[in-house]
Amino acid sequence: MKWFYRCATCGTPYGILPNRYLCDSCAALQQPERPLEGVLDVEWEGTPVPGTIPLPIEAEWFPPIPVGNTRLWAPQRLRQEFHAPNLWLKEDTCNPSGSLKDRASYLVAAFAQKYGMKEIVLASTGNAASSMAAIGAATGIKVKVFLPASAPVAKRIQVLQYGAELISVDGTYDQAFDLSLDYSKQTGSLSRNTAYNPLTIEGKKTAAFEIVNDLLKMGAGAPHHVFVPVGDGVILSGVYRGFENLLKLGRIRRIPTLWACQAEGSSAIARALASGKTGSEAFDHPLPSNTVADSIAVDVPRNGIHALARLRQHGGQAVIVKDSEILAAQKTLSSTSGLFAEPSSSAAFAGWIKVRERISPEENCVILISGTGLKDIKAAAIGLGLDI
Ligand SMILES: *Cc1c(COP(=O)(O)O)cnc(C)c1O
Repeated sequence: MKWFYRCATCGTPYGILPNRYLCDSCAALQQPERPLEGVLDVEWEGTPVPGTIPLPIEAEWFPPIPVGNTRLWAPQRLRQEFHAPNLWLKEDTCNPSGSLKDRASYLVAAFAQKYGMKEIVLASTGNAASSMAAIGAATGIKVKVFLPASAPVAKRIQVLQYGAELISVDGTYDQAFDLSLDYSKQTGSLSRNTAYNPLTIEGKKTAAFEIVNDLLKMGAGAPHHVFVPVGDGVILSGVYRGFENLLKLGRIRRIPTLWACQAEGSSAIARALASGKTGSEAFDHPLPSNTVADSIAVDVPRNGIHALARLRQHGGQAVIVKDSEILAAQKTLSSTSGLFAEPSSSAAFAGWIKVRERISPEENCVILISGTGLKDIKAAAIGLGLDI
């Protein structure tokens, strides 16, 4: 197998090496307060071992902690309640740190192992930090995180509990992003910043492989719709990447419709899709994010340009939900399926509730439940009308 990076915008190939994050010529066009220019795709040539997920780092470097292979299951009471016989939940809450972010951290840690890099640094709204801290602890790699002081307390405690270094930023996630980039440029530490490090997109593709494998194993056929919670847009691009790989391998015949589910107070990608524009022009005016769903609260979606291009290429859709709809969906999901999801993931479920009547009940709908509700009990308490 031959592996390399390729600029998603101009097609320039690059080697997969430390200190290579973006396309040089496209990144030179970067404007302040806009999504990243020059995000790189991971590409491969050759024939992967049948039945495996092709990944750019050899298995010998994988961290010694199980990540992924999460459950896909049929929520019977929800199916009855909503007359949705083909509704599925992909339960990524059961990753080690409680979120889908572990898929990306796992591949980034494998890369660090391969190249003997001793420190990983990142900015995060919370889950990427707790995830990298967990995987770093398993692997024996130092992790330094820049986290807005407003991040939910459970995520901060996770970071410290796993033994990572926590830099609390008195500012937004977007400011933490820039601070962490400065640090990695000065020190040469490996950056795990989402979208900036191409392996963050690549690592998340495994979710798409598992969805297809599990549906086929259960005799349920291919997925038709996947509901994805979207902030920076890396999960969305990662899941698309998985389906693109599966198409290339002949394991599916078409790419499912992905629904980018966003909170009303952080909906830049949905608005960009509706604008009809492409590239950074579609992201003219960054608005300060304001939503109960902290994991999808971003002012500037770092992977916005890349995710928007994938949505357009594959006929993806976007759906915007209000905080009240997110909290109501969180309660419905918990009390009708037994799965307590964090608000971001509940936004994906709320998105499905909103558009489900436009979808044939014959079609398989998968909701990506990306993080556990225990990570942010304050938000859930608001939904319950409690003052804690
Ligand atoms: C990060 C995160 C998201 C959003 O992913 P993006 O790549 O930022 O779009 C959704 N849900 C959970 C639980 C997350 O941690």
